[in-house]
Amino acid sequence: MDDKTRDRLIALAREAAAKAHAPYSRFHVGCAVMAEDGSVVTGANMENACYRLGLCAEQSALTAAQHAFGLGRITHVAVAGGPNSNGTIAGEDIITPCGGCRQAIAEAASLSGRDIVVISASATGEEVLEMTISQLLPAGFGADVLPET
Ligand SMILES: [Zn+2]
Repeated sequence: MDDKTRDRLIALAREAAAKAHAPYSRFHVGCAVMAEDGSVVTGANMENACYRLGLCAEQSALTAAQHAFGLGRITHVAVAGGPNSNGTIAGEDIITPCGGCRQAIAEAASLSGRDIVVISASATGEEVLEMTISQLLPAGFGADVLPET
């Protein structure tokens, strides 16, 4: 992936973070998911007064991706975010997908056999960590161990 594409995905993830519904944690996360043809969809975390119903940005974006082009066509996932203070999403910590979202990305990877690249960034996009999903979720559980139906 060239730097321009990576920067674009991080910028889209940061834009998506601004649209999060996170009144309880005030921790905004955005996610951009790219397909083989360069198409991109985004999502953001969406909290709920019933806390356990909160939805991560990655799962929000993966749902959009499934509808837009299909999980099996995903090549890259970018995540960015941080604490929202008076409308500014700040923080220098790199935001990586939680364990559940790594599992969801691995599900998409299993459909294509492609080791999806996950770009994790800080709120400003200045700090970046790029790893594949197999690096983020080694020895992960997948459909290959389920009995055939
Ligand atoms: Zn998550």
